[in-house]
Amino acid sequence: MPWPRYSIDAATTISTAMSKQLQAALTDAIQALAEAQGATVAAISAQADLMGLGCVVAEASDHGRTTPPLDVVAGVVALFLEEAADSLEENPHAGTEPNRAAAARAALGLEPGTQGKPLRGRRGQPGRIGTIARWLIYEPASLFKPRQDGRSPFDALIEDIAEHLLRREAAFRVGEQRLAQRARRPPLETAMRVDWLARFERHYCIWSYVAGVRNDLGMAVASLRDDAPDDTDHFVRKSLYYHALFLTELERFTRERGGLWVLPNPTAEQTVADAVWMIRKPTPLTEIDESILRLAVIGWDEIATFVQATHTDTALRRLVDMWHEWIVSCACDPTQQPQPECRVHQCVGWAQSFMTTLDEQWDLLADWYDVPRPQSAVVPTQLAPHMAPPLTKDLSR
Ligand SMILES: [Zn+2]
Repeated sequence: MPWPRYSIDAATTISTAMSKQLQAALTDAIQALAEAQGATVAAISAQADLMGLGCVVAEASDHGRTTPPLDVVAGVVALFLEEAADSLEENPHAGTEPNRAAAARAALGLEPGTQGKPLRGRRGQPGRIGTIARWLIYEPASLFKPRQDGRSPFDALIEDIAEHLLRREAAFRVGEQRLAQRARRPPLETAMRVDWLARFERHYCIWSYVAGVRNDLGMAVASLRDDAPDDTDHFVRKSLYYHALFLTELERFTRERGGLWVLPNPTAEQTVADAVWMIRKPTPLTEIDESILRLAVIGWDEIATFVQATHTDTALRRLVDMWHEWIVSCACDPTQQPQPECRVHQCVGWAQSFMTTLDEQWDLLADWYDVPRPQSAVVPTQLAPHMAPPLTKDLSR
């Protein structure tokens, strides 16, 4: 799951993406307020698009610390609307005409003398149109007449208010994204002072051997299905070699680092810790067998000498026989999903989940990558028919 990356273009991108739908929704909502009694708390409460704005909710709830009552949220909307109106003029409260800020306040029923009044006057009661027209220096009759750009002066006023609110929301969302981005990049300055690179160098050492186990088990199973006993024998021994290296590196990691998996995400930490245990659990090896394997790779630390020893050393020969028998127990159909009860594929599955989880955590920290991780071009089992070196036979003769 790649996390979104913040860029300086984010504000533009966000406001462009938001502009069409949200701007239309905000314009409609503000228009509805203006057409009725103005931006009263009761009227605002009925406008879901205004009440649901991220910047409004954050302000009203003190950034999520409290759960404000609706009238408090509506009050914040009213304040933001007033601010939007005032933004239309450099000196919004100068008494000189024209003054778009004063006209906008009148359109929202926020200008003194316009509160609670209808837009259009009724018999015996003047509306707000006269005040708006006066601040704009228009004849009241021409306030709703389309101009050359197709918008009436009144529509243009409403859209300008909506535009300000939209930009405020965009700025809020960009700020949120930036905060989230910072939170996602655990720096050296945390109390833990985690040196991620050193950590991951150790993690990837184990990863390499786990990958060897996964690939060679897959190849051993594939060659069984292809009825290629030489290949099967080769990959049985090679997968045992990688399993021995995995066990050795894991033991060293446990001794030197306390076996402590420190990753940016605690769920991933648990997955990885579970996986290293679950990779070992379905195998036929006891703890003593594992210890024999670790001792064996100290003496025969190259694959050639190790494979040779699997033919000559009594203790290793027994382990290879067990390992072979275990791999042969897989009866999964290669064209189907592996059977859940297959212990070989349980091991393969946990190895895969260990590798994927670690890769994801690395990608998270390695923030210089600006594209998603590519898929590997190598599919081990597809290469299997071309990878049957006569290593085992030559050395065993
Ligand atoms: Zn299987």
